Amino acid sequence: MPTVSFGRASGVAVWSALRTARDALASVVFPAPCRMCASTLDTASRVPICAQCLASFDRIHGPLCACCGRPIISPQAADFLVVLCRLCRAETFGFDFARSFALYNDPMVRAILLLKHDAVAPLGVWFADRLSELVASTPECLNADVIVSVPLHPTRLRERGYNQAELIARPLGRALHLPLKPFLLVRTKPRPEKLRLTRHERWETVRGAYVAREGIRVDNLHILLVDDVMTTGATLDACSRALRKAGAARVTALTVARSVPNWMATEDIREQPGVHGT
Ligand SMILES: [Zn+2]
Ligand SMILES: [Zn+2]
Repeated sequence: MPTVSFGRASGVAVWSALRTARDALASVVFPAPCRMCASTLDTASRVPICAQCLASFDRIHGPLCACCGRPIISPQAADFLVVLCRLCRAETFGFDFARSFALYNDPMVRAILLLKHDAVAPLGVWFADRLSELVASTPECLNADVIVSVPLHPTRLRERGYNQAELIARPLGRALHLPLKPFLLVRTKPRPEKLRLTRHERWETVRGAYVAREGIRVDNLHILLVDDVMTTGATLDACSRALRKAGAARVTALTVARSVPNWMATEDIREQPGVHGT
């Protein structure tokens, strides 16, 4: 009796051929354009962005500020085991640690707009997968207890109908097997109508703008605080302070994108006591 068996290599080849056929079929049946560059999508992925556009995000890599994750371009940076940026040396932020997937470059600005104004949920899932990889490779992010998304002001939430930070935080919770608590924080002060805010205004408008929902305690918990973009860090700072006030032991901020003005400017880094590298 003849038997049919696939070796591992031929099994992989068959699967790969099936996937190619499925993608070819998808591009014929669902000829959707990439939402960023308008080229025809040729895969059956639910993310409506082509592979080239997804590859154009500028992943953040070291050397980074050991606390807030700001990329540091400095010839001296490699000489130190731990470097802190100017803001973290001044203990500016209320969070303990922050990391982001990629720089807020032009393609990322467009992708975040899709998330923010078109609620492209599969893109939120794709970003959550990138953040999940970041968590897995960053010891400081491990052993978290709960995920909290940065909330919108209730008026803004009603207008928009959804919170873009939650579109990332919810699938991230599923990937990390952590509970998501989207209603734990409340934004009490609305964002001013003015579209562009100066650095100073960004800090002023969010100072005391977030509180933990009344009666809720997060005593001794390590919280992953999730947002779409970190600009000045003022929002993450204000949320972290509210979480600390409600008892959080540690707040780790995670964002998809990070705005790094003057990124190429040389950072003034100093040796931290007791952490001088070799
Ligand atoms: Zn594209
Ligand atoms: Zn820093």
